[in-house]
Amino acid sequence: MTTTASATTLSSTKEIEPWMIGIRRRLHQCPELLYELHETSEIVCEELSRLDISFESRIAETGIVATIGHDKSHCVMLRADMDALPIEEMADVDFRSNNAGRMHACGHDCHTAMLLGAARILKQQESSLKGTVKLCFQPAEEGGAGAQRMCEEGVMQNPAVQKAFGIHVWPQIPSGQLTGRGGVFLAATNAFEIKVAGKGGHAALPHLANDPVSSAARIITGIQTLISREQDPLEAGVVSITAINGGSTFNVIPAEVTIKGTIRSLSVANKDHLKVRISEVARLLAEADHCTADFVTVGEDYPVTSNDPDLWNDVVEMGQRIVGKGNFPVCSPVMGGEDFSYYGAFAPTCFVGLGCYNESTGSVHGLHHPQFTMDESVFHIGAALHVSFVNEQL
Ligand SMILES: [Zn+2]
Ligand SMILES: [Zn+2]
Repeated sequence: MTTTASATTLSSTKEIEPWMIGIRRRLHQCPELLYELHETSEIVCEELSRLDISFESRIAETGIVATIGHDKSHCVMLRADMDALPIEEMADVDFRSNNAGRMHACGHDCHTAMLLGAARILKQQESSLKGTVKLCFQPAEEGGAGAQRMCEEGVMQNPAVQKAFGIHVWPQIPSGQLTGRGGVFLAATNAFEIKVAGKGGHAALPHLANDPVSSAARIITGIQTLISREQDPLEAGVVSITAINGGSTFNVIPAEVTIKGTIRSLSVANKDHLKVRISEVARLLAEADHCTADFVTVGEDYPVTSNDPDLWNDVVEMGQRIVGKGNFPVCSPVMGGEDFSYYGAFAPTCFVGLGCYNESTGSVHGLHHPQFTMDESVFHIGAALHVSFVNEQL
């Protein structure tokens, strides 16, 4: 593809910018969690029907797979995730979340709108497409491994997907830029929970109880030494404890404390090693306190998101034609996880970050922040990337 073709694509997606923004704002107002994307899914299906694009819904509960093109000999897939987060929105926008305690704070509403934008343009090109485009709208990226379910329910087959592409909005870099890297890009992750059980009692008589609070405290500090003392210093790994719950008043030792957290590493082997060792250390430390600690992983168990080196090179050239040569900096690997990684087990994949930091639109907060505000002026870039990926890879 030439620079002129990229400019044509970009101007065609720019033309439908208000339409994409409209859809995004509707989605933004009805954020839903994990697999419960009923309203969201309905909006996507409605728009696909209006565009006369054939699709199958209720895949992985609320996922949708649309197809454009008639030639089944080649197939590429474009993916958007659609779920929101359990956050109370504090952003200063007039299309704020209508669902209390839920917010599109990871930009998945934007991903969905941009993919619909690409769908609209690609539908116009349907007769000349040399293959099939699958548009994968998936649920449950935020901890529910929705991509894994989509794979289990056959999204990568029939016709077999040969290459897949995904975008995430990226507030760490300015609007108008793209980022990513070849090879390992995002971390392998595991969410976990540890139930520390002891014997409750009167706070004045600790010798008659087995205190799970002090035991939980030891576990929390103890597992950090797995990173500082056990892990190879040249290996990257993170263990973060993100929730501690137990007890309800001043003078009672509770019987149980629950700890929640996440493990991240740039290799699945190291992530799995940390998982085994956290479980072991928690159990042994609890035992020393006459308590018990039960470790379980919860939902999320994401592999590393890796960009296929050849596809990455293609995407860099493609991206540079769209945003300009100096606007596609390579970044270091990131400890965030993505279930886009699951598609990588079936075909070469590429995932890129779409810059959206822009002080003039108040887009200065990070992902998962209650004030996360999207710079919608980058939607046409995202949609153009999707369209160009199809035009170049099919
Ligand atoms: Zn997220
Ligand atoms: Zn996300």
